[in-house]
Amino acid sequence: MIQIAVYGKGGIGKSTVSANISYALADMGKKVMQIGCDPKHDSTRALLNGRNQTTVLSYIRDTPPFDRRLGDVVLDGLKGISCVEAGGPEPGIGCAGRGILSTFDTLKRLGVDGMDIDVKVYDVLGDVVCGGFAVPLRNEYADGVYLVTSGEFMSLYAANNILKGIRNFDKGIPRVAGIIMNCRGMENEHNAVERFAEAVCLPIVARVPRSKLFAEAEKKGAPLLHLFPDSDEAAELRKIAENAVSILEDPSMLLESKPLDDGQMGRIAAGESVCPNPDGAVPDGPVCRTCVRKKGSEKKREKLVASCAAAGAVYGCSTVTDSVTVIHGPRSCAHIMSSSRNLSEIRRGRRRMFIDDPQFMRIDSTDMDDTVSVFGGADLIEQKIRDLIQEGCTRFFIVTTCVSGIIGDNVIDVITALSNLHPNLYFRVVEADGNIMGDWEDGYTEAADAVADMIDRNIEASGKCVNLIAERYFFRINEDKDDDAVALLKQFGLKVNCRFMYETDMDSIVNFKRGTLNYMVNDDAMARGVAKVLERKIGIKAEEDLLPCGMYELSRFAERIGETFDMREEAAEIVKREEAEYRSAISELRKRLEGKKVFIESCYIHSIDWLIELIRDLGMEIVFIGFAPEREWKAEKRRESRFEGEFKFTKDYWPDDIRIDTDRLRPDIIIGDSGRSDITDVHHMSFVRAGVGVKCVIRFAREMADIMAAPPVEGWRITGKGEMMGDERYAGN
Ligand code: SF4
Repeated sequence: MIQIAVYGKGGIGKSTVSANISYALADMGKKVMQIGCDPKHDSTRALLNGRNQTTVLSYIRDTPPFDRRLGDVVLDGLKGISCVEAGGPEPGIGCAGRGILSTFDTLKRLGVDGMDIDVKVYDVLGDVVCGGFAVPLRNEYADGVYLVTSGEFMSLYAANNILKGIRNFDKGIPRVAGIIMNCRGMENEHNAVERFAEAVCLPIVARVPRSKLFAEAEKKGAPLLHLFPDSDEAAELRKIAENAVSILEDPSMLLESKPLDDGQMGRIAAGESVCPNPDGAVPDGPVCRTCVRKKGSEKKREKLVASCAAAGAVYGCSTVTDSVTVIHGPRSCAHIMSSSRNLSEIRRGRRRMFIDDPQFMRIDSTDMDDTVSVFGGADLIEQKIRDLIQEGCTRFFIVTTCVSGIIGDNVIDVITALSNLHPNLYFRVVEADGNIMGDWEDGYTEAADAVADMIDRNIEASGKCVNLIAERYFFRINEDKDDDAVALLKQFGLKVNCRFMYETDMDSIVNFKRGTLNYMVNDDAMARGVAKVLERKIGIKAEEDLLPCGMYELSRFAERIGETFDMREEAAEIVKREEAEYRSAISELRKRLEGKKVFIESCYIHSIDWLIELIRDLGMEIVFIGFAPEREWKAEKRRESRFEGEFKFTKDYWPDDIRIDTDRLRPDIIIGDSGRSDITDVHHMSFVRAGVGVKCVIRFAREMADIMAAPPVEGWRITGKGEMMGDERYAGN
């Protein structure tokens, strides 16, 4: 069996040529199947005497998988030719390229490969604009490719593009059968096609003249070969079928694809001759076959994207407790996005959160399937929102994914229509389109923008309350409602007004501006992004200091609170009490930790002064502090450390070198946030920010002392008495 694909610019006459090739092959005694891959599904009309053909895609849409039969989409045409039409979505909706993929997949599943066929002819739209239309170019489908072209430049340009497409798939195997000149009757037409053919080193297999017979055959709904078998036109078309048979017998007739670059194509258009490309190199084109990167180009580490913008947007939007975030995409996207938080919690050993986590419950999805990716998902998102309204939901964030972006669903229009119907409900679309906005952080910041839209700009700050900005679950130690931040503020007689982007209800977001002070909980690109959004949208500025962690920061915080709320003495008193507790706990822990060597590596956390302060107070020795490079594309800058002159900070440090450095410096513990776990012979402690206030720092120190008491490597054993014993090296710690 041989498979041939007939490619060419839209309207160039591929279907006519394909139907005649199929007819000629069948006339030569071959068993032929013709598969039309143009969404306008008229490839096999001439072979079916105008009969209507059910397209594979409409069949997929209307027939449940278990009821599908190959015979329903394969019709017998003239001379016993098996006819198939892929079909496609309505113009402007869905993704026709994806439709081609689905068609091939379905035909395979229905057993097309088991049919007794000598030649398969694929009639393909030649404007290779995406991977879907390039499917028939893949080795598994097309053994040989014919390019149909006239002498018009756009037609030659499309032919050259197809050659580029073939080159991306050919893996060095020659697969081009030749050029079919389908004349339009323009001046110098033969010359233009011949110059192009010579430049790309391909033969012109047939020169089909412009002829009224084609129009006549089309009117009668039959191939020209069937109606005018003795015409010159028929003789020329037969040459293609004969060429295909020769290839079937001798595949070495197939040639390599040697497309021209843009400059060379320009010269063809100008009527000049172009020397054949010796190796078919495309100097200005992408050369990697699996992506558009130049071969050998280095992946830049700092450009790696951890997760998509849609995931960040979903996380950010779903922090609003009395709303639902609808992911407009496949179920797998929703699964990844909803489980990422839970997985992180499991990794941190708080399985209880997995069960209780309400944020997980606030995510819904349109669960697109393959059909939607072909035919569009506007109906699906509309129906999902209608169902949720029925269930009583009143506030919606809608986040778009890659798939909705690729198929071009107009989600904004759907949601605008729904919001006109339901003016009392809240709708907000975040067009993440997967990662069109960037990565997780960009999506999260975009979600902040969406959430900030709800803030009432007219409210004035009042009362002893503060806003917390950009708290995130993975920077938190205590998940309980009455956590460190709330407890600390309570000590000063303050309340949390709004936890912007952390388990917050709509009401507190609306009243955000009531807060007198605004504190970022962490200092990183995301938190700063959210703070910038708030500054831009509602004109509030976050405090320069973070919410305090450790003694020094607590003192500064107390000063600020004392000044703002006119309570200097009370604030100083609180600091005194906290300091007493801190000093007493630290002096106990110092007995266990003094003199131990600490290695710090930080990829993500920007403010580690609290950690340096703690280690110094514990009498430990810092042997190394390394910071990963700042990510320039995020305009990320670490704030100056107040320990800058006291300790050496190694900037642009990647923990890849950690093995060498720990061998050299022999630390007792590595405290890091890169997640490196392959150094198994040194104690490890991962850190983010210990929390808020001073108690969290004491807790961190205790945890460190406990970790140091256990062996860093395996060494646990059960004694004869059934007791579990650690490595002897750590006895007495
Ligand atoms: S939206 Fe795109 S990048 Fe994000 S999970 Fe879905 S498929 Fe992956």
